[in-house]
Amino acid sequence: MSTITRDTQVFDLIKREHQRQLHGIELIASENFVSEQVMEATGSVLTNKYAEGLPGKRYYGGCEVVDELEQLAIDRLKELFGLTWANVQPHSGAQANTAVFLACLEPGDKILGFDLSHGGHLSHGSKVNISGKYFEPHFYGVEKETGLIDWDKVEQKALAEKPKMIICGASAYSRDWDYERLRNIADKIGAILLADISHPAGLIAKGLLNDPFDHCHIVTTTTHKTLRGTRGGVIMMRNDFDNPFGKKTMKGAIRSMSSLLDSGVFPGTQGGPLEHAIAGKAVAFGEALTDQYADYVKQVQKNANVMANEFVKLGYKVISGGTDNHLALIDLRPKGITGKLAENTLIKADITVNKNMVPFDEAKAMVTSGMRVGAAAMTTRGLKEDDFVRMVGLVDKVLTNNDNDAVIASVRGEINEWMKDYPLFQ
Ligand SMILES: *Cc1c(COP(=O)(O)O)cnc(C)c1O
Repeated sequence: MSTITRDTQVFDLIKREHQRQLHGIELIASENFVSEQVMEATGSVLTNKYAEGLPGKRYYGGCEVVDELEQLAIDRLKELFGLTWANVQPHSGAQANTAVFLACLEPGDKILGFDLSHGGHLSHGSKVNISGKYFEPHFYGVEKETGLIDWDKVEQKALAEKPKMIICGASAYSRDWDYERLRNIADKIGAILLADISHPAGLIAKGLLNDPFDHCHIVTTTTHKTLRGTRGGVIMMRNDFDNPFGKKTMKGAIRSMSSLLDSGVFPGTQGGPLEHAIAGKAVAFGEALTDQYADYVKQVQKNANVMANEFVKLGYKVISGGTDNHLALIDLRPKGITGKLAENTLIKADITVNKNMVPFDEAKAMVTSGMRVGAAAMTTRGLKEDDFVRMVGLVDKVLTNNDNDAVIASVRGEINEWMKDYPLFQ
């Protein structure tokens, strides 16, 4: 090993990325800054280990230690959300969802999800994703006037199409979900209800939003958004159940949903688990169990609320008029700018947002009429309500002067100076 020369090309790029994260304002709603111990666990010798299978049931030798580690991750996650079962192996949120589909559905089965162009996720039935290619997707959306989901309309759609699975959860919906109502609808047609809580998982863990676990059969989440862990996914259940579509074992017994989900992950859609990533998840779940983390997510919710209200005050059209969670979706059409222009202009001032389709958008996906902003990352960095007011002011200054390079440069200077007060990673 000692003969390997230092890869300066890669490490110079990592250094540059570190600097980029330090200097700027990060408003991408799906991003966060993990702790040093999460990074340490993720960058550990665990990357060397193969461990196909589950703790205690592996296809490889030498798994004594990773068995304990993966079990620790599972136990912490169970405690965090009050679960009886969890699988922490999915490499990502999309992988977690694909494993659920494989466990529950046959090719061609109908699924009903939240429309991607209204704030849903592409893994919930988009034509470009396996979920829309191998299954028959149907969608519900928000109302044009209110920006809210009308549960009666979801019920009508569900009764008309009779999907085998209803999927709730979103990437750009700022309001809470009526899981009880959705379960009621699912029960009328014998559908499985899947909640994908990738975005607000951390707020749900600490009771700041409705709890999906008593109502939804299966819950998936990413681990790297508000949950602030290693990039990855997990699948969870509060209560296991016999799969309702009669999938049997080779010996003819009805299989439990937990066993179907386990095999949906491995060998269904993945090979060996990333035990280094699972270690990072375990550390993050441990952090999420603390009171400090509860304070963090409360502050996220407060900051997001202030941020959304501040945009409204400055004349922006916030979809649904505000937020219950950590993010807001903003329709930029009244300001006469596209999402693409906003994203590209803000980055010149070291402010990162993502362009985003808004409900009933006529623009193309690479242009869009909106932008999505979230408070999770900058709250980790230590910013409070007043700081978010200042931040929105700077965003507005850049957007309203999007053809004025001198103004943009001065905002950038102000931000770089400001961010020196909020170091990341000592
Ligand atoms: C982010 C997200 C995912 C996908 O997670 P990846 O880790 O990027 O695959 C899935 N579902 C929802 C609702 C998301 O917001």
